[in-house]
Amino acid sequence: MLRQALAELGLSDHPGVIHDLPPNAASDRAVSVVHSPTTGKPIAAVKLDDERSYDSAIERSTDAFKRWREVPAPVRGQVVRAIGNEFRTHKQSLGAIITAEVGKITSESVGEVQETIDIADFAVGLARQLYGLTMPSERPGHAMREQWLPLGPIGVISAFNFPNAVWAWNAMLAAVCGDTVVWKPSLLAPITAIATNTLAQRVASAMGHEDLFTLVMGRDDAVGERFIADARLPLISATGSCRMGRRVGEVVAKRLGRSLLELGGNNAAIVHEDADLDLAARAILFAAVGTCGQRCTSTRRLIAHEKIADSLLAKLVKAYSSVRIGDPGAEGTLVGPLVNARAVEGFTAAVAAAKQQGGTVLVGGERHTQSGLAGHFVQPTIIRAPANNVLPIASEETFAPILYVFTYRDPEDAIAMQNSVAQGLSSAIFTRSASLAERFLSPAGTGSDCGLAYVNMGTSGAEIGGAFGGEKETGGGRESGSDSWKAYMRRQTCTINFSGKLELAQGIRFE
Ligand code: NAD
Repeated sequence: MLRQALAELGLSDHPGVIHDLPPNAASDRAVSVVHSPTTGKPIAAVKLDDERSYDSAIERSTDAFKRWREVPAPVRGQVVRAIGNEFRTHKQSLGAIITAEVGKITSESVGEVQETIDIADFAVGLARQLYGLTMPSERPGHAMREQWLPLGPIGVISAFNFPNAVWAWNAMLAAVCGDTVVWKPSLLAPITAIATNTLAQRVASAMGHEDLFTLVMGRDDAVGERFIADARLPLISATGSCRMGRRVGEVVAKRLGRSLLELGGNNAAIVHEDADLDLAARAILFAAVGTCGQRCTSTRRLIAHEKIADSLLAKLVKAYSSVRIGDPGAEGTLVGPLVNARAVEGFTAAVAAAKQQGGTVLVGGERHTQSGLAGHFVQPTIIRAPANNVLPIASEETFAPILYVFTYRDPEDAIAMQNSVAQGLSSAIFTRSASLAERFLSPAGTGSDCGLAYVNMGTSGAEIGGAFGGEKETGGGRESGSDSWKAYMRRQTCTINFSGKLELAQGIRFE
């Protein structure tokens, strides 16, 4: 599947991908072996950068930035339009690479590439809308305005679970803003990164723009650390765990660079007694089980009103028992594997901790072995908290399909429970009451404390048009739509004196 997809993209001979692994590949520090989550077997390896090739990539990106910023923004938009069209043409092949490498089911992999196409379309329009403000000056014969200027080569660090779209959220906006992009992808999904970056750069090169998109590949302790400490990258946009974000935030702050952090979530759905339970169950099923629970926005906690908790859980347990688990590339599969053996260990440890803390497993809780595949399959799992609602493991983000269930009587308690975790990414409430929905979204900030707050829909599956990101330990960054583009530019306030006289602000006399 992988070889065929790469061939369709004209990348069979890409020098960064090694198909026939030498016997010492696993111990060779110059390469990284990629394993299929579906079979557990090696499928290829990628070449890693050394200090010289790393430096060359940053230098090339820095030089390209000096040329690219001179291109008018609407013309930059035309390049992004052509890149979006290239992704349109190759949506299925790129999707197949994502499925092979990280185990997403085909429709979700192709959906991820669609997200890349959508953000490219958004960026094309944005290229004519990088608006600054004008403001009245307090001085006669003066004008004031703000303008937004390109920032430089942007460093992008991506998580394994969105190996194509996270880059695009950053890269498509950065490109119309006049920036170049250096990408350090996850070593769990490097081939998707090579394919994505090559496709985009191939289009840009054909239009006369070399090195807009470069890639550096390496381990966190070598290339990763060099990347975040590199003062040639004025902004590091990093997507991944809170643990990674703490390190990136610290190192980038030390050099007074900018960081944009998109980190872990621990997302809850509140289901009130007046909710449409069929709709809620369907939405929660996708949000908790989709992508095998490996979305930053996956629903991890269900906070159900005590009057409807049993009937909602009956629907969910029935649905969970019937989802087809197996080969993510096969028709009809809804749940593919976890990404690797470590993720399975995390799942098993979390289930054991929940049981030990008094939780009851309602469905799942085990490895899934029935598909006949040797990969990292687990059963989607629902665990009910004890009656006192105390289940400490639920305050951690386990990147697996585990849904912890809590109950409430008073909606104020439900909102407090939803806000009680360290992360603040996505949140949802299911209710037919307009006033409860508005209470959840209170403009005083006393409702959901998350960056994303939804009514009558699941916590996952954001649209690109809104600003995406979360609060608290999720890192505070915003990407994708709305005015997120401002993170990729620097703001300049310009004041022009056309009066022919020197006037000081605040009426100061200095004569
Ligand atoms: P991870 O933190 O293990 O790795 C993420 C990226 O950070 C990888 O590219 C990794 O190589 C890099 N990295 C780690 N340490 C580094 C260092 N010291 N220097 C430079 N780079 C370093 O996360 P993961 O397992 O790939 O992804 C899952 C996590 O990502 C989850 O916590 C999930 O919630 C989060 N995530 C968040 C969002 C969001 O938008 N908020 C989106 C997707 C995933």
